[in-house]
Amino acid sequence: MDRRPVSDGWVGLDVGGTKVLADLVDDHGQVLRSVRLSSRDGVEDAAGLEDVLSRALELVCDGARPRGVGVAAAGFVDAAGERVVFAPHLPWRDDAVRERLSTRWGLDVVLENDATCATWAEVEHGALAGVAQGVLVAVGTGIGGGVVVHGEVVRGAGGMAGEFGHTRVVPQGRPCPCGLRGCWEQYASGRALVARAGRAGERGGGVAEAARAGDREAVAAFEEVGAWLGVGVANLVAVLDPEVVVVGGGVAEAGDLLLTPARRSLAEHLVGAGHRVTPPLVPAVHGEHAGTVGAVALARRAAAAR
Ligand SMILES: [Zn+2]
Repeated sequence: MDRRPVSDGWVGLDVGGTKVLADLVDDHGQVLRSVRLSSRDGVEDAAGLEDVLSRALELVCDGARPRGVGVAAAGFVDAAGERVVFAPHLPWRDDAVRERLSTRWGLDVVLENDATCATWAEVEHGALAGVAQGVLVAVGTGIGGGVVVHGEVVRGAGGMAGEFGHTRVVPQGRPCPCGLRGCWEQYASGRALVARAGRAGERGGGVAEAARAGDREAVAAFEEVGAWLGVGVANLVAVLDPEVVVVGGGVAEAGDLLLTPARRSLAEHLVGAGHRVTPPLVPAVHGEHAGTVGAVALARRAAAAR
């Protein structure tokens, strides 16, 4: 029998291509403790990655036993929440991850796509709380997101809904690693921002800092990327007619540098503009902890349903 004290907290693990973020989270979505480990150094296969997850879990729990674990993975998760089907930046390949981790840790585990988790974080404790119809666009290295209908995040038939980044905005446009051309994230992501600012290899935060200091190239990069963001958001609004569009992800931390040109562009490109309410484009509440907080919200819901 496990004699460790039972903690009041839950653990959220955000599993990205370069880092694992482990957060101890309470019932109200507050992060109590946080651990970050590299998932690149020495991680060559699924077993190596799962060793990193186990270490992160142990460190963040600090001897206590969590009530459950939510795993937010940067990849496609099947509709049953059992398998990581495809994850270009992770070593999991059509792999029954949830059950293996649950057995290894002796804990209840839920598994979900990271952007879907981030959307749940906003629904449960953020900018989408109380919203019946909404959208989250997560602008990071690429673009992910989630759709909220009747207060629930839509998963899609195969669990793959919300991959907005790979909708086409330019016919025969820039090539995308997904194999298509002209994908939205080639124009409106963090990668597009640093490339446009002539700062490839840097992070979006560096471009934001330069823009605030008056660097013209950096300001122009935000204008251009924000305008493309508005184009894609106009497409989403045409399809979904949401009450609000929430913009999250690392690039959204630039705030109005990104959102002001995006709002202008949304108003220009939205069908029926002038005859409808243009939904507000607002920043997400949860920054880099959105994935873990949302994964914990799902772990809590799963526990309540058992
Ligand atoms: Zn693509």
